[in-house]
Amino acid sequence: MKVFLYVKEESKRLKNKNFLLLGDLELYVHTLLKLKDFDVYLDTDSSKVYNRCSSDRSLSHVTCYMRDEKYISMELADSENSPALLMIKDFLDEHVTDDDEPVILTHVTSPFLKVSTMLDAVKKLDKYDSVCSVSEIKSFVLRQDKDNIFTPINFDPGILQKTQSLDSIFYMNSAFFIFTKRSFLENNNRIGKNPFYYKINFPEDLDIDHAEDYEIAKHVTEKRLFSKNLASRRNLVSRNYKNKDSIFNISGVQFGGASIPIIAGPCSVESRDQLFRIAEKVKMRGADMLRGGAYKPRTSPYSFQGLGEEGLKILSEARDYFNLPFVTETIDESSALLAVKYGADILQIGARNMQNYSLLKFIGRLNRPVILKRGMSATLEEFLMAAEYLMLNGCKKVILCERGVRGFSKHSRAILDIGIIPAVKRESHLPIIVDPSHSSGYNYSVSSHALGGVAAGAAGLIVEVHDRPEEALSDGIQALLPDQFDELVKKVKMFEKILNQ
Ligand code: PEP
Ligand code: MN
Repeated sequence: MKVFLYVKEESKRLKNKNFLLLGDLELYVHTLLKLKDFDVYLDTDSSKVYNRCSSDRSLSHVTCYMRDEKYISMELADSENSPALLMIKDFLDEHVTDDDEPVILTHVTSPFLKVSTMLDAVKKLDKYDSVCSVSEIKSFVLRQDKDNIFTPINFDPGILQKTQSLDSIFYMNSAFFIFTKRSFLENNNRIGKNPFYYKINFPEDLDIDHAEDYEIAKHVTEKRLFSKNLASRRNLVSRNYKNKDSIFNISGVQFGGASIPIIAGPCSVESRDQLFRIAEKVKMRGADMLRGGAYKPRTSPYSFQGLGEEGLKILSEARDYFNLPFVTETIDESSALLAVKYGADILQIGARNMQNYSLLKFIGRLNRPVILKRGMSATLEEFLMAAEYLMLNGCKKVILCERGVRGFSKHSRAILDIGIIPAVKRESHLPIIVDPSHSSGYNYSVSSHALGGVAAGAAGLIVEVHDRPEEALSDGIQALLPDQFDELVKKVKMFEKILNQ
């Protein structure tokens, strides 16, 4: 089947329109590639387009012509003799011998138009002279005149006012015209006497004409590339690779199943006495695992940096004494190796290291369970791809952790993005837990963040608890007191029951 299109170097409404990038392809190339199963005839006034079509092997289905002078000089002619009509007529004369052969006229500014839609539309030529694409306007439109009278208008997106619902109205969307040589020559236009109006829907109908259209197209493209990326079988984190929720049993604690495990303990291990006191208190109140940092990535190099190996030793002693598996942050290769040496049940990768790809690869190869915290400004894709690094390198048990993203106001340390929980669950089989301590930053709101996370579907919590927060060497302000922790655990257990009903 033959497709005819024209591409201009310049566009009056949107500068450089045909050369704008969508994904990594220029708009016109994007569309031409899609038409690879057709005989494509392209008329252009752009030597850039002409040269590309003549040299790019992936465009060998395109026969390209430099625009004839006569079409250019007719630019201002009346509509009946417009250069476009003349161009089509000449094209039909030269290339179409069968009067009843369907010919498709399309243009490169509808990047999401599907070939299958056009082929379906072609079938309408059985009963109609021609087919032309239309789109529905869903906007509710009234025009206000100078006497303040409102009248419904048909369409003019430039002056829309959304005030009330009207029946659907349509506008001609020139995504495609399909006609035969016979109809075109008889009527001297693309639509003919008896056209079929073929309705197409967003995003297929998006015709890039203005800057806003391009913004929408970019957005749609990114979303598609993104879900293609995520959905790809190659991605171990994706639901495509594994549809069922992953359930990890880590030292007897289950993540991703029906229960909501709670990891609790101080921000930092400060001393044997401090950790043992707190471990005992959280254990008594129902914690499933102990947390404590031995290596602390601190904003100021003058702040307490953690006890290092000594801290790991204390953690492993506390684990054995209280029978409480422990989670600890590792910040580089040597701290990761030491954490493994002291038997850390889960290695934590902190928000600041979420995109430290060499660390992710290294820790992945250790094949230990990992809690991967979301970077403070990481998108869902960046977050999941960081987890992909771990899995690709051998880590089988990755638990994601939302801990708040950078915001603009000071009432909390970060903004707990509970919205990422359903989004992660949609894309990935990995469990996601919530750290309400680092998102809240203040003792009084930690429990609200925690319960918000649980209600949104978090698979667990990691919470900072301190019995003497005023003495804490890091994050004292956000530490829950043991009694507050007690209350939180009780509420989480209630939620757990409700969610499992
Ligand atoms: C922590 O858990 O103590 C910590 C530093 O967390 P984050 O990496 O989320 O800031
Ligand atoms: Mn902390």
